Amino acid sequence: MTVIETEPPAAASGDLSGEAYRVAMRRWLRANLPANFRSDSAAFSPPTLPQSIAWEAAMYRAGLAGIIWPKGYGGHGRTLREHLIANQEIGALAMPESVNSIGKELAGPIILAVGTEEQKRRFLPAILEMRDIWCQGFSEPEAGSDLAGLRTRATRSGDTWRINGQKIWTSGAYRAQRCLVLARTGPLEDRHRGLAMFAVRLDAKGVRVRPIKSIDGRESFCEVFFDDVEVLQSDALGAPDEGWAAAIRVLEIERATNRMYRAWRFENELRHVISACKADPVLAQLVAERHYEVRLGEIVVDIEVLKAHVETAVDALVNGDRIGARGSLAKLHWSEAHQRFAALTLELLNQASLPLHPAVQVARRRFEAIYLQARAETIYAGTTEIQLGIIADRILQLSKGK
Ligand SMILES: Cc1cc2nc3c(=O)[nH]c(=O)nc-3n(C[C@H](O)[C@H](O)[C@H](O)COP(=O)(O)OP(=O)(O)OC[C@H]3O[C@@H](n4cnc5c(N)ncnc54)[C@H](O)[C@@H]3O)c2cc1C
Repeated sequence: MTVIETEPPAAASGDLSGEAYRVAMRRWLRANLPANFRSDSAAFSPPTLPQSIAWEAAMYRAGLAGIIWPKGYGGHGRTLREHLIANQEIGALAMPESVNSIGKELAGPIILAVGTEEQKRRFLPAILEMRDIWCQGFSEPEAGSDLAGLRTRATRSGDTWRINGQKIWTSGAYRAQRCLVLARTGPLEDRHRGLAMFAVRLDAKGVRVRPIKSIDGRESFCEVFFDDVEVLQSDALGAPDEGWAAAIRVLEIERATNRMYRAWRFENELRHVISACKADPVLAQLVAERHYEVRLGEIVVDIEVLKAHVETAVDALVNGDRIGARGSLAKLHWSEAHQRFAALTLELLNQASLPLHPAVQVARRRFEAIYLQARAETIYAGTTEIQLGIIADRILQLSKGK
């Protein structure tokens, strides 16, 4: 497959806004998205890394990445509401997840927030043009939910830092050029203080990346080992000792606005499963039964609630407010709702008549993958239990132990 681009829409240069922008983005996506990228198509075959890179670079040129980043750093300088519009159009299609979502949705925003001018000019265009793929090195064998317990150490001597330690569950590290590393600069007892963030090159001397095989046979998770890795001060992000504050901002983004298209992607999944069911006489009858009508209706409500969370977060950001603990409400909702939905889709599709109708075969392949993926969604970006703890503490202000 080669990505054959039609002309980038005028929206990429900022000539359109609002609904005209939506129409331009919709047209471009539908004209350019390769058929084999669509997991709801019989032609689906997962894109290779070079294919994903080419596709995402084309999306950027069309105005569909770096939407709200300033033009001076390679962004399109558009509004957050237009960012939401683009996400709605992206979500409406069954396209693959970005291979650089950590770069675009976590590292980029944090560099914009705490990076120096030089760092913004060096890192941000490389992310958008897909020259630098990023991964996130927060978790460690003894520091997942309790991130403040991390032990990877960064020691400074003049303009050079030396990093020693180990990260785990680092998604996509095997294909990344840079890792957003959170490391300890002070004593372990200081917990939240004495943490700093670094943009570490994964080809630096002393970095070792070891993939971990997961239950679905893939090797996208990695362990990353740092053995006296030299990092220049110019790759330290934000003030030393303020890494915790920077990490919390990353996590707030990760929980609330990262992959803003989720509600619209879930809607795409719902349309797909219903159309697959309608192609099969047994399933067509099942989905019309009261029991399934009610359960599918609950999914529709879940999707509407998720849309409301996203729109509330956008409104808050537009008004200059921080998302804060409300990000946990959104994270808890989408991850739990998606698991309910994935379980329901498989329950339905497993009752199909035999031989399987081709439309049901396509849906089974897609929803089996979604089901497995959804198991992880209540763990990464903070587990359900952690979100419940944050909501109890910071939103409901319940006292501990009640
Ligand atoms: C698909 C996937 C991708 C990931 N990608 C990355 C990545 O790219 N980079 C990265 O840094 N990390 C990544 N992670 C790691 C993820 O952030 C951690 O797995 C997560 O934070 C949980 O930490 P843990 O695995 O150490 O579990 P633990 O923190 O040991 O938790 C184990 C169990 O105890 C519960 N628990 C822990 N503390 C409390 C508490 N105070 N109150 C109530 N219950 C509690 C948890 O909810 C959980 O059920 C990824 C994980 C997954 C599944």
